[in-house]
Amino acid sequence: MTKFSDLKLDPKVLKAVEDAGYETPTPIQAGAIPPALEGRDVLGIAQTGTGKTASFTLPMISLLKRGRARARMPRSLVLAPTRELAAQVAENFDIYAQHTKLTKALLIGGVSFGEQDKLIDRGVDVLIATPGRLLDHFERGKLLLTGVQIMVVDEADRMLDMGFIPDIERIFQLTPFTRQTLFFSATMAPEIERITNTFLSNPEKIEVARAATTGENIKQGVLMFKPSRRDRAATEKRKILRGLIDAEGDACTNAIIFCNRKVDVDVVAKSLKKYGYNAEPIHGDLDQSQRMKTLAGFRDGSIRFLIASDVAARGLDIPTVSHVFNYDVPSHAEDYVHRIGRTGRAGRSGVAYMICAPIDEKNLADIERLVQSEIPRLDAPKGTPAPAAAEETTEEKPKRSRSRSRRKKDETPEESPAPEVAPEAEAEQGEEREPRRRSRGGRGRGGDRGGDRGGQTPQGLGDHLPDFIARSFADRSETPDPS
Ligand code: AMP
Repeated sequence: MTKFSDLKLDPKVLKAVEDAGYETPTPIQAGAIPPALEGRDVLGIAQTGTGKTASFTLPMISLLKRGRARARMPRSLVLAPTRELAAQVAENFDIYAQHTKLTKALLIGGVSFGEQDKLIDRGVDVLIATPGRLLDHFERGKLLLTGVQIMVVDEADRMLDMGFIPDIERIFQLTPFTRQTLFFSATMAPEIERITNTFLSNPEKIEVARAATTGENIKQGVLMFKPSRRDRAATEKRKILRGLIDAEGDACTNAIIFCNRKVDVDVVAKSLKKYGYNAEPIHGDLDQSQRMKTLAGFRDGSIRFLIASDVAARGLDIPTVSHVFNYDVPSHAEDYVHRIGRTGRAGRSGVAYMICAPIDEKNLADIERLVQSEIPRLDAPKGTPAPAAAEETTEEKPKRSRSRSRRKKDETPEESPAPEVAPEAEAEQGEEREPRRRSRGGRGRGGDRGGDRGGQTPQGLGDHLPDFIARSFADRSETPDPS
């Protein structure tokens, strides 16, 4: 078995790994670190939970050890799709680079440009950014990417989902042709394949098993939910959720409950709280400091249930989740894999239960096709409307039920009126992504776009800039004062 000491990492990095308590490299680390240290491009097909962050940060730190950063010219660049993921990569850097003098800056929306400018002006070794915010800095003339020696693209498949691929291509073109590229994606969609063929040079390809699809340590189940009456659907669904939670008893130490829409994240969180559950929502309409606070509470156990949307939860590193509840069947089958991958990590056992309403049956079929197995059907928990009762409803109106599950794409789903779904889904994507380019050449479009919503007032850290975001490795006392 490979040991960290076999990997030719810099001794200071090795020490940090030891301090972190890691004993052996994970498969993606054992596969990616040696070629990365040789200066080769790496294509890692791996998802969160496999140790992929360390698989690119450890060699990067080792390689960057020599040399000095010049003002406004970062020596390396890590691109991540969401603010949270970027902040998490930055936290990882803090840990692994603690014995070095490397400096970093984190460029994400919701934080003032001024603070970020100061860090860039000083010169940073490592720049960790979301694509939109990075391009904003570039367009403001505050940043040069011609000194980038190593570029990392993390969670490329999510970048694709969020419409970031054109931004990524542009960023690639702004960096030197001679750079080293470390590229990570959970899946290889054709568009991702195209990007890697264009921008990677003879990469070493490392693919690690998708634990979530094969993970025998995750107990999966789906409850086929048919409301007794349409106007009771939402109330009954929430009751089912409580029933599922209660049936797990103490085995459910904590859980992430996924909803497809932000509006449901709020409603479900509120409802659970009303019934005495220790629950908090997390989605993009909450400001950054609130999201960070909720996450910290969930990590330290003071919050038991995190109600989340896919975008908000994506990539978050929460090592010990006992349960995942899919309140809704995700509309992209891949999201199911990501969601349930939040539990059963690092060899622990986990439980992933889902509620499937009639209109979700097609999505359920897509998921089962993707994971190549049937998800076991669950009995309704005690005290909740039993599927049998619901079947009575179906029998009474068989045609309606059938026509619903065969509903054509453009017909309006009955439980989720289309006009509500579309703007929410759109908003959900829009809020997490950094502002899209509205005017490519555009400096001086009213200055700081600030937030994730174009011209709107930036939501964000404001005065609550967490330490780890702003500090540099070299001198933590240099943390700039938040404006
Ligand atoms: P990631 O896939 O990068 O999100 O990492 C998932 C989790 O695994 C994080 O909590 C890391 O701290 C942890 N981790 C990374 N590498 C190792 C390792 N070699 N041994 C044990 N834990 C690790």
